[in-house]
Amino acid sequence: MARQAGAVVAGAGIAGVATCYELAVMRGVEDVIVVDPRPPLSLTSDKSSECYRNFFPNKSMVDLTNRSIDILEGMKDQSNDFFNMSRKGYLFVTGDSQQLASLEKAAQASSEFGAGPVRVNGEAAALGEKTGFDVYQTPEALLGRFPYLSDEVLGGLFVRRGGWFSAQQLGAWMLETARRHGAELIVDEVVDIEIVGGAVSSALLRSGERISTPAVVNAAGPMSHQLANLVGVDLPIQASLHHKVTFRDHLGAFPREAPMLLWTDPVRIDWSDEERSALAAEGLDELLGEIATPVFGRPEGGVASPFFEALCNYRPVVQDEPTWPVPEPDFMFPEAVMRGMSSMVPSLTRYREHLPHSAVDGGYVMKTAENLPLIGPAGPDGFYLVTAISGYGVMICTGAAELVGCHLAGRELPNYAESFLLSRYDNPDYLSAQDLVDTGELAKKGARTS
Ligand SMILES: Cc1cc2nc3c(=O)[nH]c(=O)nc-3n(C[C@H](O)[C@H](O)[C@H](O)COP(=O)(O)OP(=O)(O)OC[C@H]3O[C@@H](n4cnc5c(N)ncnc54)[C@H](O)[C@@H]3O)c2cc1C
Repeated sequence: MARQAGAVVAGAGIAGVATCYELAVMRGVEDVIVVDPRPPLSLTSDKSSECYRNFFPNKSMVDLTNRSIDILEGMKDQSNDFFNMSRKGYLFVTGDSQQLASLEKAAQASSEFGAGPVRVNGEAAALGEKTGFDVYQTPEALLGRFPYLSDEVLGGLFVRRGGWFSAQQLGAWMLETARRHGAELIVDEVVDIEIVGGAVSSALLRSGERISTPAVVNAAGPMSHQLANLVGVDLPIQASLHHKVTFRDHLGAFPREAPMLLWTDPVRIDWSDEERSALAAEGLDELLGEIATPVFGRPEGGVASPFFEALCNYRPVVQDEPTWPVPEPDFMFPEAVMRGMSSMVPSLTRYREHLPHSAVDGGYVMKTAENLPLIGPAGPDGFYLVTAISGYGVMICTGAAELVGCHLAGRELPNYAESFLLSRYDNPDYLSAQDLVDTGELAKKGARTS
């Protein structure tokens, strides 16, 4: 006789593990089974920069991230901060008056959607406010608060409801808690889903085992397209390749107290003539001119840690289907990112002659055209999506899982539920009414916020 499960979650990345926790612990679903051929969180979720923010250009994402952060803060207390959740914020920096105006406008919009008040030039900065935005309209105001920035700054935007945490430790805590509530992790792969009378009836695993279940949740990350195809559902998603580099900052050049720092202006790296010829010979033309993609980074680990991590997606790769193994970036990636970061944090020029030890990793983020996730029922009864969670999957995992839980348990849905349904595309005018330029994606080329 086939084994029974209250729900099968396909995928043990951060989305699947959070869903498993939600169903087993919060909804009391019996015998939740998570299936994954890989160790939990090991494909994409452990490659993340693990940052969170409630700064987005539309109400549904502001609401979802606010809710997700509320849940994360509850878990932080419950777990005795097992996953080291910080509240250091995000700082968007610019040397361009037009960009500063755009940042301020974006903060106003996000504020109207519920992300908190907008303050100017450090007003109330000392009051320990935990949410909203600080707009720094002069270099003096900005450098007064963040003295390690380049003196080429003109101003910036500080997002208070933001920071980072260890996604892996959050995942471990959620999985362990779910296990204590009867959930099980099986090392296997969902290869087929049986539908009877228009509803999910069982999941077939590669090992040949069949699990009888009324619900399958597609949390298969970069493979969620294939999984949805098993039940005849087509997902309008693409895979975008992202890498990050972690440096061992042995000279102590990166400010440990810094928030997530983002330089929002194009960067032109001052390569020597010799370096320029070498880069041209290697076909790395993207690095020779203006790099329009933002460069960003943050300290990693506690105050005594020597590490910081940084990103710049200067060679964007977007494809319908990911290719495996995850391609590595070009060999200049650490050097280019370090030089780009130096434009914002000049103390990093100390590494100009000798780059410190670094480690590069990356993965695919799965996105829809308008960069909103796919969360909720799709196709046959009992089939649910929690995918297309883009470059914000770690920060929304708890809110997304809660939303799947509401759908699955037939509970009242939050106001943002409809924005994330696959059925939104049934409206032929839906996409043309969306903002496809400012989608809230930080790593996007020329990610101006208006
Ligand atoms: C460089 C980089 C930086 C990032 N920075 C941030 C950040 O700062 N903040 C943030 O919130 N997000 C960030 N992200 C995005 C975040 O990492 C992703 O959104 C998130 O990890 C996706 O999680 P997932 O569970 O959907 O996918 P994954 O972690 O890829 O997990 C999917 C799992 O499904 C399994 N699977 C696939 N098919 C099947 C099947 N048929 N049966 C069973 N299992 C299956 C896979 O083996 C895999 O383990 C970043 C991503 C990258 C690459």
